[in-house]
Amino acid sequence: MEKIKLKQTNIETSKLGLGTWAIGGFQWGGSDEQEAVKTIHAAFDKGIRLIDTAPSYGFGKAEELIGKALQSAGLNRSEITISTKTGLNWNEKGELFRDSTKSFIHKDVERSLRNLKTDYIDVYHVQWPDTLTPFHHTAEALNYLYKEGKIRAIGLSNFTTEQMDIFREAAPIHAIQVPHNLFERSSEDELLPYAENNEITTFFYSSLTRGLLSGQITENTHFPEGDVRRATDPKFQQPRFEQYMKTVNELNDLAQDRFQKNVLELALRWNLQQPGENISLWGARHPDQLSPMDGLWDFSIDDDTIKDIDEILMRSIHSPIGTEFMAPPNKQELYG
Ligand code: NAP
Repeated sequence: MEKIKLKQTNIETSKLGLGTWAIGGFQWGGSDEQEAVKTIHAAFDKGIRLIDTAPSYGFGKAEELIGKALQSAGLNRSEITISTKTGLNWNEKGELFRDSTKSFIHKDVERSLRNLKTDYIDVYHVQWPDTLTPFHHTAEALNYLYKEGKIRAIGLSNFTTEQMDIFREAAPIHAIQVPHNLFERSSEDELLPYAENNEITTFFYSSLTRGLLSGQITENTHFPEGDVRRATDPKFQQPRFEQYMKTVNELNDLAQDRFQKNVLELALRWNLQQPGENISLWGARHPDQLSPMDGLWDFSIDDDTIKDIDEILMRSIHSPIGTEFMAPPNKQELYG
């Protein structure tokens, strides 16, 4: 497993991180707790040392399962990098909304520490920008926790470069989270250069486009009630779904021909070899989903193949679309 040191920090961790959105169950059609704990242990066994989570992943469920898995894993806390988030609150109906007020952040961090059964968080991200709260207030709250030692690094997720500039007037930014995978590349325009120019480590999320690039999804795949892909994610709706499925097949053929690999291995390798200091988050909720990890380290994608991949994407995806569907409302949008 390749290692990486987060810029401006002394945090060293694995370049591949386990994502736990699906483990939380909410928006993924439910959670199987035993499978979740086994998946986290399988990730550790394979050398993963970074886990990414958020209170919003199952309203604390994913964090609790990580806390449980850490206790039974037989590893020291200092061997694992925990990345969690704040900035999303929810009401009694289970509707998420953005909240980066100081009072919420101070309560939220204590709840995450309890859930995770730890006394510090390695990387603490604001999950979505709350434009109803001045960014200085949010930055001051994070900086306070940073100086207190409750968090070891500050991250921002889904922020624009302009919003980050304002935030940085009151607190350092050590990490950002952006969607980045073969099908979702808008961060290449501004966010990745911004991170590079400002000594910020980037976490790539949805490395497999929520399973689309696993090569296991077909027209007949059944997504359970409440799975975000069934109702909301536009890449999983027709007519786009067919376009993406055809492209996955084409990429799979290319991976077979050139490297004797499959599309999942190609997609993760592409992600891992992006220029700069980055972390790739791979979401999984069954231990065997991590088995392909062994096939990621013995090849690299050459420049000609990268051009061919880009050509396939340009030719096959007629109406590219990003991750806008994930964006939760702010309080005003929710309550009017
Ligand atoms: P992802 O990593 O692109 O895909 C995860 C899904 O792919 C899994 O849940 C699984 O689907 C499927 N999968 C994984 N390995 C597989 C295998 N070997 N065979 C078949 N299917 C496989 O998507 P993601 O979970 O959205 O992103 C990764 C992580 O990034 C998240 O878990 C979260 O920690 C983080 N994230 C952050 C943000 C943010 O706003 N900051 C947003 C999104 C994600 P099934 O579970 O259906 O089997």
